[in-house]
Amino acid sequence: MKILVDRLCETPTPFEFEAGPDWWKDREVSAVEPYRMTAEASTRVGAARGMGSDLLVSGALAGAIEAECSRCGARYRHALRDDFRLVLEPAGDRVPGDPESARALERDGVWVSEELQTGWYRGSEIDLESFFAELVALALPIQPLCREDCAGLCSRCGIDLNKSACACAETKPNSPFAVLAALRGGRDEGEA
Ligand SMILES: [Zn+2]
Ligand SMILES: [Zn+2]
Repeated sequence: MKILVDRLCETPTPFEFEAGPDWWKDREVSAVEPYRMTAEASTRVGAARGMGSDLLVSGALAGAIEAECSRCGARYRHALRDDFRLVLEPAGDRVPGDPESARALERDGVWVSEELQTGWYRGSEIDLESFFAELVALALPIQPLCREDCAGLCSRCGIDLNKSACACAETKPNSPFAVLAALRGGRDEGEA
């Protein structure tokens, strides 16, 4: 997703970038478990000149990834959706503090801060593909769930409680009811 800086004007120029499975292969984010970047993601971007020499890049990310449910372990398709707004200042003579960011500025003509809201650019062409990969990484769910009310696996017998019930469910040792029952049992014994 290359943007020619000199062509931009105050009215946003639309760009679109699509990433399929092949694109993910080369990316660090594809190695992040429990995700697999098998599905496609795309972003619609509008880039414009802002105040002075600043560049404004805003848009929306849409796509899906294959994720592993943190409760039941099932692989499922997780929708990705995120809006972003990025303000880029000319880097001038400045160099980002850490070597990796400095390399990014040199390679892509752009460096974006960790929150992905501000950054620096240099030269007449900027490449936003790394930014896009980071955008996806930031949109990944911390605790992926195949569905909101996933019942997960039984901690004792390992059965998938979304598919069937097991006998352990009634005597879960750690449930608040079991604890209460045990307390009550103890008191009853004491009274007896
Ligand atoms: Zn699940
Ligand atoms: Zn069980």
